[in-house]
Amino acid sequence: MTTPTESTTAVTANATRVLVLNSGSSSVKYQLLDMRDRSRLAVGLVERIGEETSRLVHTPLTGGAEKRERTGPIADHAAALKAVADELTHDGLGLDSPELAAIGHRVVHGGLRFTEPTVITEEVLAEVERLVPVAPLHNPANIAGIRTARALRPDLPQVAVFDTAFHTTMPESAARYAIDVETADAHRIRRYGFHGTSHAYVSRRTAALLGKEPSEVNVIVLHLGNGASASAVAGGRCVETSMGLTPLEGLVMGTRSGDIDPAVTFHLKRVAGMSADEIDELLNKKSGLMGLCGDNDMREIRRRIDEGDERARLAFDIYIHRLKKYIGAYYAVLGRVDAIAFTAGVGENAAPVREAAVAGLEELGLVVDADLNAVRSAEPRLISPNYARVAVAVVPTDEELEIAQQTFALVAPEGV
Ligand code: AMP
Repeated sequence: MTTPTESTTAVTANATRVLVLNSGSSSVKYQLLDMRDRSRLAVGLVERIGEETSRLVHTPLTGGAEKRERTGPIADHAAALKAVADELTHDGLGLDSPELAAIGHRVVHGGLRFTEPTVITEEVLAEVERLVPVAPLHNPANIAGIRTARALRPDLPQVAVFDTAFHTTMPESAARYAIDVETADAHRIRRYGFHGTSHAYVSRRTAALLGKEPSEVNVIVLHLGNGASASAVAGGRCVETSMGLTPLEGLVMGTRSGDIDPAVTFHLKRVAGMSADEIDELLNKKSGLMGLCGDNDMREIRRRIDEGDERARLAFDIYIHRLKKYIGAYYAVLGRVDAIAFTAGVGENAAPVREAAVAGLEELGLVVDADLNAVRSAEPRLISPNYARVAVAVVPTDEELEIAQQTFALVAPEGV
């Protein structure tokens, strides 16, 4: 969408810092970056907001200061952000600094309207609020974070970067569910996709790794974290992604089931007498790897497999089977694939997952070199041999940097 009309030019040439806020229902993660060299000045996290045992962990990354941690009740997002502001002030990086150019907020659901990062106005906030019914867990927390930050620095440009934005280029054939059109439209039921900031960043970095422009390559991105999603990116534009109306659809995740027959939900209601909220909790919090074997951490699952644990083995096999189905499907959607990129906690670290996901797909041009796959690094890298038709890459994601860059691009004075 076009940028709203509220002033975005409040920043001066020496305002080169961006604070990135990722507000969850009971947590706030933050990073302060200097956009001149994209360096991090401070990172931190407030968790268990609203409980007696809230915890703030703040790590300054300048001037040799030590990581600080404190525990004690933090009542709400306003108190959390105030505590973060105090920590930053302590390091001489306060929110009142003229060097702060903007605050960039991760906003999970932008619906169809927000296709780009957007300077936040009351009108934008009202629209994000209107989307709460399709993102009841996420958007209220994002809104709380934004309102608090605006109260602290009302004069400062604040930008919303939407998880859904990158996926708004999906064609209708991919975005629509095959259900009654009137019902779908009345309730805004369609496939929106999530993790878009990561898919955008990783697909671009993958093109760069191949020495190409994003417009020249087709990439399958596999974002495998605790939440997991795949996307098919054709010439820099997303044409298909695995999450849908909510983040529940698609791959097997840490605690989410991913794809199931929707009739499972009616069955659970009719036969097991479960309520909608109980089924929601079951499928989002107690399913996936956790539901299958009692662990959602891939490290623990691999350890158990090495000890001969059958349940862990089966959970791993189901996870890989689903992943492979999506690789095959997205290969067909794209027609030609130049690269497959693994990212996020599992994708960046779990070599056995990468190996198993492409095993047996040599006919599709997919091969992983065992030695390259075993390398541990924080840098983007290829793990396929030179002769392979399709590049297989590990590309660490950096959603905070992407949010900071998109935010800064909207508010930076000319020439900075
Ligand atoms: P994320 O949501 O991207 O932070 O990813 C978190 C998940 O990454 C954890 O739940 C683990 O399953 C996985 N993970 C993190 N580190 C490793 C590792 N060294 N090996 C395997 N899996 C890992």
